Amino acid sequence: MLPTIFLSHGSPMLTLTDNPVRHFLAGLGGLLERPKAILVVSAHWETARPTVNAMAVNETIYDFYGFPPALYQLTYPAPGAPDLARRVAEMLGGEGMACNIDPARGLDHGAWVPLLLAWPEHDIPVLQLSVQSHLGPAYHLLLGQALAGLRADGVLVIGSGSFTHDLNRLRRDAPSTEEASDVTEFSAWMHAALIERRTGDLINYRRLAPYAAMEHPTEEHLLPIYVALGAAGEGASVRRLHSSTNYAVLRMDAYAFGG
Ligand code: ZN
Repeated sequence: MLPTIFLSHGSPMLTLTDNPVRHFLAGLGGLLERPKAILVVSAHWETARPTVNAMAVNETIYDFYGFPPALYQLTYPAPGAPDLARRVAEMLGGEGMACNIDPARGLDHGAWVPLLLAWPEHDIPVLQLSVQSHLGPAYHLLLGQALAGLRADGVLVIGSGSFTHDLNRLRRDAPSTEEASDVTEFSAWMHAALIERRTGDLINYRRLAPYAAMEHPTEEHLLPIYVALGAAGEGASVRRLHSSTNYAVLRMDAYAFGG
């Protein structure tokens, strides 16, 4: 059975520049059995209630500004999955989480940047599910748990965010060997809690983990990890697939849950 995945999607520049996380993402497709469809929970789609997109062919959304023109030429026209979108809405609705279907929204860069690297042929149906940043980790774990049946159907659930995400302290000239000590401490705490499957601690990370509010001034880039964790099902194994640092403060870690 496929695992669920959490990945750090990084800057859209990953598609154009060399970087350790680019190499990891480029190899991800080869690590996994070919999924029947991919559901991406992206930090870049925030809505008041869960919403799943359903297009015949996904449009590519350029939800970033001031990047080189070449970036705006990239497209990821993967087929959508309207039937699966209805099923996702039913699964969530069945657990008391009413879910909207959006027939007009394409894929934001939290989805298409990693997918373009991992499955460049864009021939696997893709759909996106939004996050509700105001509802926090426990809710997103439940959101994932409601979708745990998808793994058995060959649907790959990907949570796409960032393991740490303090954009205010980016140091664009920092080598990938450099990392702020608070980033190291926070990431070590999160890693230990994940590997030891201390779900209660993970839900309360903001109170318990060192520098939590500093690494995540807002929570939307961490919340996808809770969806991936929940969607793997009870007692799923936890494996770190990748770890690296960009700009001294962005940890680009990726995890597989189950499988
Ligand atoms: Zn992002």
